[in-house]
Amino acid sequence: MVSCSAGRRPSNHGVQGSYEANSITSTDALKPLIILDAGHGGTDEGAKVSTFMEKKITLTTAFLIKKHLEELGYRVIMTRSRDVYLPLQRRVSIANKTKGSLFVSVHFNSSPSVEAQGIEVFYYDSKEMWRTRASKRLANCILYRVVDQTDAVSRGIKQGNFHVIRETEMPAVLVEGGFITNRDERGKLRDKTYLDRLAVGIAQGIDKYMKM
Ligand SMILES: [Zn+2]
Repeated sequence: MVSCSAGRRPSNHGVQGSYEANSITSTDALKPLIILDAGHGGTDEGAKVSTFMEKKITLTTAFLIKKHLEELGYRVIMTRSRDVYLPLQRRVSIANKTKGSLFVSVHFNSSPSVEAQGIEVFYYDSKEMWRTRASKRLANCILYRVVDQTDAVSRGIKQGNFHVIRETEMPAVLVEGGFITNRDERGKLRDKTYLDRLAVGIAQGIDKYMKM
């Protein structure tokens, strides 16, 4: 089991401190902004077993995470909200231009081994130490909560050199939420109730990280 409590507490995330309400300022503007990236889309189907496609469940899961994050008091921007192809550079530029507090990319795994199963969370080992530390802490928080919610096998947090977590300027992780090539796990991922538990876990992990 991975602990989510390692590391120093960041002092704030730019959302605390005094605030005087007026008629112009929306309280929404004070909510931390989370960027959710549903992997693949359009002609890029991602991992696929017959008609079961990664691009579909990444989008379903991202919508569920968005709902739970909004309930927890966050603003959410999704890099895509429909079945379209979106270049990796565009996903990154959305995150960097909107200056999100953090970036979470949602994917599902595949393997030549039908035995492979479980959830893993990637962070990028950046030269910017603060971002690496923050991303690693976020990865731990998400993995811990997701495994708790789903009872899935934990494959741990891992360093990964993926474009979207390398080029983003905020703490960033890529969640691989299970193997669609594993028959049992694929069965679970077909079930929206299971995807919702996965989404709750990701939202709780984000919330835990933000409140550390
Ligand atoms: Zn993927």
